[in-house]
Amino acid sequence: MEHRLDTFAVWEALKEGDECPLCSLRRKTERQLVDRCLGGAVMIPDDRQRANAAGFCANHHRQLYAKSNRLGHALLVLSRLQTLKPQVEKAFDRTGMVGSKRLARQKTPSNFPAQALKGMSGTCLICRDLEVHSARQAETLILLWQKDPDFKARLMASRWVCLPDAAMLADMSDKLSENARKEFLACLRHGMTENLARLEEELDWFTRKFDYRNQDAPWGESKDALERTANKLGGWCLGPEPLDENAL
Ligand SMILES: [Zn+2]
Ligand SMILES: [Zn+2]
Repeated sequence: MEHRLDTFAVWEALKEGDECPLCSLRRKTERQLVDRCLGGAVMIPDDRQRANAAGFCANHHRQLYAKSNRLGHALLVLSRLQTLKPQVEKAFDRTGMVGSKRLARQKTPSNFPAQALKGMSGTCLICRDLEVHSARQAETLILLWQKDPDFKARLMASRWVCLPDAAMLADMSDKLSENARKEFLACLRHGMTENLARLEEELDWFTRKFDYRNQDAPWGESKDALERTANKLGGWCLGPEPLDENAL
């Protein structure tokens, strides 16, 4: 069922024609996850427990804060703080950290209490969920490439994906049969090299437009070449929000 929903979403993202449909979907999913954390979902015991256990990274705290729901955000943080407080105390208490009397008799690890503190501060509910969704969306893209000739043709003529997502797809392609994997990697290679060459040209013209002699020459496709090339090389980070239903 989830795969069927993803099929529609991946098609929709590809039709947008951005530099990476997987990034577009990831960003849309991320916005939904941020909204969900501040919405009623946090009152559902299971969700609340997951939020308390994982917390949020700095990037997602910024995104939660930007929603200007100070009370919702504060309740999340208070709940997480109350979960963490005893754990921080335990992290400095060797017996608490190692968890059992047998282990407590062993030598105190040299990385004590850093490891326990790192474990507490290195997790994020939104990052974790986003990774699961992204992996499924990437899997769906490969599945569509394999099963739907229309999708394959559309993907072949598209801007393909960003470099980090190309890595993810290449990694996932080992689930295909040997022949299908070879063919998929050949398509990916062709798509990536062609699109990097296109961006090189577009960004090159972008830089030349700063020369006063080119002041009146048309921009062509280059006006947002900087944003699109950065998005291609590092994953979506600049320019208008992709797949934004609130955009005009
Ligand atoms: Zn991407
Ligand atoms: Zn995060």
